[in-house]
Amino acid sequence: LSAADLVEPHRICVCVRKRPLNKQEIAKKEIDVVSVTGGGELLVHEPKQKVDLTKYLDNQLFRFDYSFDETSTNDLVYRFTAKPLVQSIFEGGMATCFAYGQTGSGKTHTMGGDFHGRQQNTNSGIYALAAKDVFTHQSHRRYAHLDVSVYVSFFEIYNGKVFDLLNKKSKLRVLEDDRQQVQVVGLKEVCVENAEDVVRIVQAGSACRTSSQTLANANSSRSHAILQIVLRCNDRASTLHGKFSLVDLAGNERGTNVGNDRNTLVETCEINRSLLALKECIRSLGMNSEHIPFRMSTLTKVLRDSFIGENSKTCMIAMVAPGMASCEYTMNTLRYADSVYDA
Ligand code: ADP
Ligand code: MG
Repeated sequence: LSAADLVEPHRICVCVRKRPLNKQEIAKKEIDVVSVTGGGELLVHEPKQKVDLTKYLDNQLFRFDYSFDETSTNDLVYRFTAKPLVQSIFEGGMATCFAYGQTGSGKTHTMGGDFHGRQQNTNSGIYALAAKDVFTHQSHRRYAHLDVSVYVSFFEIYNGKVFDLLNKKSKLRVLEDDRQQVQVVGLKEVCVENAEDVVRIVQAGSACRTSSQTLANANSSRSHAILQIVLRCNDRASTLHGKFSLVDLAGNERGTNVGNDRNTLVETCEINRSLLALKECIRSLGMNSEHIPFRMSTLTKVLRDSFIGENSKTCMIAMVAPGMASCEYTMNTLRYADSVYDA
């Protein structure tokens, strides 16, 4: 992929990213069943069995706006997905970028990057790269007339409840007023001056996400994490100008092999419901539908702004693991992405 492959961003961009086989998978001699073939296409060689029990690989072709192979970097993925949306928030728009896929497929790697505990060894993810571009845009003469400040909020949705990652994981209420405006009451918004501020805040929030001893600590892969970069006018009311929501979704695995105690069932049920709601809302956005079913889940409620208005743009990055053992999950992920792409 090169700059020439970049298409003008349309309202909904859907792409897939394949991660490389990891050390354990290589040690297990796991077979790579996903091939990225170019032109946004990828093939899954799905293991199947004939009636006489002979095994074979069935090729399933998928096509998206872009397909990124295992050699792609966060930087490359960013350039084709979230980067083209940064401009739209300066023009008063709502931009949203989702990382979707099973646990272990690379959602957090793509969005948050890898920190390895050492500042020098940082592989920036979409959060950091987008933040950097937001500040580049802000200082550009093209937007000199805009008197806006940049704020960030970072929260988690677990079992349909909102927890503020920038405020000791306190539980927040979601309210809708009579004009259908949705508010997360008391959500902390921190004013930021540069991309490093954002990275620091994300690191602190992520640490809070995984280490806090509250109920929602069950497992970060069972919750959605949402980072919002918000532009507010420097007027008295701090009027909202534009908003970029960057969402690291909960793992989409169906809870088939994660035990079936009551808590897990409730969690799984809630995740499935929110991911289904998300699909419906993005499809409605794609079809310019009047009716957006955003009330179906807390996730879609808090992201309501993302699904309405002329100036909303969404990008979905579906992450897949390459191994044969993950094939069923990979197919589920690709079918989901395909149904969004279709819209
Ligand atoms: P998820 O958030 O979807 O559960 P992670 O992002 O935590 O998955 O990824 C699981 C592991 O795989 C991590 O150790 C991560 O560093 C690694 N990983 C994921 N994607 C890539 C990639 N594209 N290249 C290299 N390593 C990756
Ligand atoms: Mg993760």
